[in-house]
Formats: sequence, C-alpha cells, structure tokens
Amino acid sequence: MPTPLSWLEVDGRALACNLRKFRARLDAHTRLMAVVKADAYGHGMAPVARVALGAGADWLGVFNLAEALALRAAGLQAPILVLGYVPLADLGEAAAQGVRVTASSLETLEAGAAAARAAGQPLHLHLKLETGTQRLGLDGEPLARALALLREHPELHLEGAHTHFANIEDTTEHDFARGQLGRFQALLAEVRAAGFPVELPHTACTAAAILFPQTHFALARVGIGLYGLWPSKETFLSALAQGQDALRLSPALSWKTRVAQVKLVPSGAYVGYGCTYRCTRPTRLAILPVGYANGYDRRLSNQGHVLVRGARAPIRGRVCMNLCMVDVTDVPEVRLEDEVVLLGAQGDERISAEQLAGWAGTINYEVIARADPHAPRVLLGGEGG
Ligand SMILES: *Cc1c(COP(=O)(O)O)cnc(C)c1O
Repeated sequence: MPTPLSWLEVDGRALACNLRKFRARLDAHTRLMAVVKADAYGHGMAPVARVALGAGADWLGVFNLAEALALRAAGLQAPILVLGYVPLADLGEAAAQGVRVTASSLETLEAGAAAARAAGQPLHLHLKLETGTQRLGLDGEPLARALALLREHPELHLEGAHTHFANIEDTTEHDFARGQLGRFQALLAEVRAAGFPVELPHTACTAAAILFPQTHFALARVGIGLYGLWPSKETFLSALAQGQDALRLSPALSWKTRVAQVKLVPSGAYVGYGCTYRCTRPTRLAILPVGYANGYDRRLSNQGHVLVRGARAPIRGRVCMNLCMVDVTDVPEVRLEDEVVLLGAQGDERISAEQLAGWAGTINYEVIARADPHAPRVLLGGEGG
C-alpha cells in the first residue's frame, strides 16, 4: 500500500468520553442512538459505531440501507434505524436483516407489508411525523390512511415514531422548536389512540438533547455532539443562558498531510492559478498534496491556515484540485515531509472545524462530513477499536 498523502486520526477516547456525557444527561430509561451516517460524519462508520456501543450507545442511526448493511457486515448487532429513505425494492432486505426503517409514505407501508410476508420476517417501522420541517414526514389525512394500513398488516410492527426539529441550532429563540414538539405530542397521541403503543417515540438531535430534556422521550439521536462539536454557537450560548456550563466536548477528528516541497520564491512572484496572491517579500512556500478534490474547500484560498512545526502558516493563492501552497517564511525549520495539520491540534495551536467553516462560509458539520473521503482513518486509543 502506498503511503497516504493525507489521513485522518480519530481519537477514540474523545468519542467515548463525549458519548458518556450525553448518556449521563439522559434518564436511565431513555436510549441513546449514535448517529453514524455520512461515514460517521467523516470519522469512519464501523470503528466509530463500535466505540459508541462500547461506551453505552444502544442504537445506531444511519441515512440509508447500504450503511445499515455495512454495519451488519462489520458484525455489529445493535438495533439500526435508517433515518432516510429506503427504496421500495429494498424493504425485503431490511426486514431480512432486522434493520428498522423510517416510513414516510403509504407506498412504503404497502410494499413493506408484501416484503415482510415474502421474507417471513416482520418489518419494524418508525413513522416519520411531519411537524414543520417539511422534509420527510406524514401528518393529516395521509397519516390517518397510514394508520389504517398498519392496522390491516400485522407483519408491519410500528416500533417508533419520530420527528426532526427545523430551527433549533440556528437560533437562541426556540419557539419554533416548541411548536414542533407540541405538534409531535398531538400526532403521537393520535397514533396511540389508533391502537399502536409506539414503544419508541423520539425527537432529539444533539441540540435538543442538550437544551430540552422534554424532547428526550424514549430515545435521543446524537450526532455532532458525539464527535465533540457543538451544533452551533447559538446552541452553546443557549446552554450558557440556561446556566449550563458543565458540558465539555472533545473534538475527535484531526486531518493531516505532509509537506511535498519547500521552495524559496522572490518578492513579487505570483502564487497559483489566477495569480491571486503576489509575494511582498522573499517567501518560503511549502507545497501540500491536498486540494478541493480531497475535501479541502476551495474557499480556503488566500483565507485558511495550516499548522506546521506548531505554528500557523497561511494559504497563499488558490487551493488547487489536489495541492495547495502555504507561507512558511516565518517557520524557518520546515522540511520536506514535515507533518502538517489541516484540522486539529499541533503544539499549542489548534485549527477547529468551526474556524475552517468560518473561512469557507459553511458549518462545522459540512467540514467534518467532507474531510477527504478517500483518505485512511486511523482510530487512536479507542476501546473496541
Ligand atoms: C443527522 C440527524 C440527527 C443528528 O443530528 P445532530 O445535530 O448531528 O445531533 C438526528 N436526527 C436525524 C433525523 C438526523 O438526520
């Protein structure tokens, strides 16, 4: 195997520690789902799932059936819920593997009943209830028809009902979320009145799990917090405003590369495509083998910093497809193949996902979920990893 040009390091102890902090916030009867969609937000799905289960997670949440089957193939037996859409043709496979499916349309119930009969296994469903996000979800007349269909088909087991908040991370005003919670409670009452006990109602993502215990119900779905990041500055401020200051999360992901060339360029030289940077002094550049095709956002051009030898080095010129250039004039010891940190800590310095997100005009979620999907992930210090 050739030496990777960039790689990600995942701190298993940080993951376990974050997960335990959420576990401690939940009542003993509330189950905890580790949300490991999008390759565990870029951290590597199966190893993260193993660490999370070892640290006390009860459920795994994924987006699609392929992710659920990959977890099963990796030997993970915990209950898995597909939070996204399962094509009608794949419902039999879900039933056969005991994977729980989110249902948000009548067609899923009809095809699911036929698939469960053919598989000779019940299909466990979680109804997605529409409470105001206007994404996947059912309410009103279609919900009433769904309940009628469920009554006709005992091979469908309605295990859960859930919803997802639209406006909990982006604000310190949570009226919209409270409205959604109220609608969820009303819809859940309607489902229960139709004769379904619904063992597992669930609504909470990380922000809700931190801010609103009344959203926890039987299961909390924790994604970003497991990875040691806050959902947003507003969530952090809301927690502070509630008088919470005990929650310390530890970011688990670092992203690294090595210097591919060091060169001295004269004052007045232009750097990179479009000649968008011109050196104002004799400049030592380090060339790094990472670019936007590796998930290093092109909007970091002339904006971002990396860490080398414990110091910050600014990006000069545009980020290319597979390369970028940084100024190491003030870090004179830099050598070929020195380790460079794109995300994470080195010495006393740290580049956070929030800082990268600020430079690139996006959010911490996108930064970590898109960190080089082809680079190896190395799990360090993880129980079970
Ligand atoms: C991704 C996702 C979550 C996790 O959200 P975080 O903010 O990362 O905790 C929870 N629920 C659903 C439906 C999701 O899609």
